[in-house]
Order: sequence, then C-alpha cells, then structure tokens
Amino acid sequence: MTLFDSPAFEGHEAVHAFNDAASGLKCIIAVHSTARGPSAGGCRMWAYPSSEAALVDALRLSRAMSFKNAVADLELGGGKAVIIGDSKTQKTPALFEAFGRAVEQVCGRYWAAEDVGVSPGDLAHARKFTRYVAGLDGGPAASGDPSPVTAEGVFQGIGHCVRRAYGSGLSGVTVAIQGVGHVGGFLADKLKAAGARLVVADVNEAVLRQVADRTGAEVVRPDAIYDAQAQVFAPCALGGSITLETLARLKGRVIAGGANNPLASPEVGRALFEKGLTFAPDYVINGGGIINVAAEIRALDRNEAYEPQWVEAKLARLMATLDEILQRSSDERRPTHEIAAEIAKARIAEARP
Ligand code: NAD
Repeated sequence: MTLFDSPAFEGHEAVHAFNDAASGLKCIIAVHSTARGPSAGGCRMWAYPSSEAALVDALRLSRAMSFKNAVADLELGGGKAVIIGDSKTQKTPALFEAFGRAVEQVCGRYWAAEDVGVSPGDLAHARKFTRYVAGLDGGPAASGDPSPVTAEGVFQGIGHCVRRAYGSGLSGVTVAIQGVGHVGGFLADKLKAAGARLVVADVNEAVLRQVADRTGAEVVRPDAIYDAQAQVFAPCALGGSITLETLARLKGRVIAGGANNPLASPEVGRALFEKGLTFAPDYVINGGGIINVAAEIRALDRNEAYEPQWVEAKLARLMATLDEILQRSSDERRPTHEIAAEIAKARIAEARP
C-alpha cells in the first residue's frame, strides 16, 4: 500500500515522516486540513505492528481531528502525530526532543498535544525545540492535562444520550467502560458521583485495580466488557473496538465514550442505527480535550492567560451541538455519525477560501 491509494487517505494536505537515528524516533505527522486554521491534534505513542499500521492510524486520526475541531467550532484544522514505539519501555527525553524538532519542521501547520502513551511531561521535552506544543503544565497559558475536560464532555454527553434513549438521569444506570486510563478513569469518578453503576475492563491490571478500588466498579476481563449487562457502553481505550461482532454482544441502547474512531467501519455505524442504538459520534463527545488545548493555543497566540470560562462556554456549545445531532437523527431517521460528518464538512467547506 502506498500513501495516496490507502483507503485511509482522504484529501490530506500533507503527511510528514521523520526518522532520528540518534534517539530512535520514528514518527508520522499527518496534516489533514488547515482550512479553519493551523492543524492541531494529539501525539500518540504506540507499538504499531508495522509502519503501514502507523500511517493508517495517523491518516484516520488526523481526519477525525479536522471534524472534531470543526464541530467544536474552533479556529483550528485537523492533524495528528504518531510515534512508533512502546511507551512503557522506549520513552526518553531525547526521543521527545527529536519529536519537538520534527514538529518545528512543519512550521506551525501542526500543533501537538497529549494522546495515548504521551504525557505533558514528555511534551515538555518537545517544547525545548518548538513553540507548537500545547497541553503543558507550566506558564500562564498552560491548559495542563486535557483528559479531565475530555472526561467532563464524555460524562455530559452520556447524560444527553441516556436521557434520549431511556428518558432518565444517570443515577442507577450501569455503564461499561472499556479502558480506564486518563479519560476512562476520570469518567469513572464522575459517573460514580452521579450515582451510576460501573463495569470496567483494562489490559493494564494496575490502573484497573486503582479505578475499581476507588469507585467500587465491577471488573471483567477485556473481552468480556462487550457482554456486560449495561445500558451504556463507553469505549475509552483505542479505536476500532466496535465491530459487527462486538456490536451484536452489547446489551444496552447507548454507545458513548472517549475513544477516537471506535467504529471499525462505517457499516457498523449504519448497523447500530438500524438496531435502534443511540451513538454519540466520538469526535463530538470527546471534543472537550481539544477545546482545552485550543484555549492554550489561543492564549499563547494572544500572549494571554488560559481562560477556564472560554473552555466552559465552548463545551456548552459542543453539548448543544451533540443534542442537535441526536435530535436530527431521530427526526430524519439517519445515523448520528452521518449528521455529525455533514455538519463538520459544511463548516470546513465554508472556511475554505
Ligand atoms: P490512556 O492511555 O490513558 O488510556 C487508555 C487505556 O486503555 C489504557 O489504560 C490502556 O491500558 C487501555 N486499553 C488498551 N487496550 C485495551 C483493550 N483492548 N481493552 C481494555 N483496555 C485497553 O489514554 P486516554 O488519554 O485515556 O485516551 C483514551 C482514548 O480517548 C483514546 O482513544 C484517545 O485517543 C481518546 N481521547 C483522549 C483524549 C484525552 O484528552 N486524553 C481526548 C480525546 C480523545
């Protein structure tokens, strides 16, 4: 497979590959669109089985960022970086310094932030070589870890979906969370505080135990999460977990979680709609994190401080957009992901000169 004939290639503006022999950095930065502004999106570190798998992930995730930033009404385009490597054993300051030099070479057309396998501390090393890094801990513009804001959006979004699907609040509702890392962990705390019951699974035993101990969640094996007796399935691990096979095993009527690209294919989106499930499109419900990052980019550009009220206002507008998508889906009898994509594409097209 080459780049332009990859099924994941959809009009991307640029795809950059970087190799730094000294630090071992191998990374891809994909810029899907800069129509609404400089592209922005997280940097993921993952032990991809092949460079082809890394490329496909970068292409899919950067396009999703274009949609996510447009739906959140941010003046940002879509981009994503993937670092090929095991984040548990292969992280070094030198690797992230080399990543910073790579970001700098994209000349401000891509802003990096945290994603799976990458922490604000890692990005602080990148910042030594480029200003185009957001989501750090220090300085007046710093927005810090975006995961709590992402989790807040997912939490509110689950509330909207449950109201529509079950006509109830979250108290007494059972939510199955797949992956209790940064987003899934904060989400578990918020759901627990709202009176929901939890079933959780993670491939990382230590993280799983911590979350289960503090929330009283029931723990199941990673593959058993699809069979949980839960009204809501919240994918908060990696993408592609909802296939036609796993969909058939879900017991509830709501799919809403933080993971990017949770549907393995567009057919799954159509199938879950035909089964009568309520699906919160990932790039709508998990937009809180990028809103938080956008607040930092905005503050850096204006030489101002981070404004939490701006984040709250954007998150409230995003939730109103999610509700509009759910309403249109029911009125027009069309899947939510199709309506969300239409809204995103229209906003990107409007912005194009
Ligand atoms: P994270 O690495 O902190 O957490 C992911 C968790 O999923 C880890 O604990 C990992 O062990 C677990 N996991 C991996 N494979 C699994 C499997 N097969 N079954 C069960 N658990 C599994 O990452 P995160 O920051 O919490 O992000 C989670 C998802 O949300 C990702 O898809 C990410 O792209 C997306 N997302 C995150 C943010 C953010 O602010 N961090 C924002 C938007 C979207």
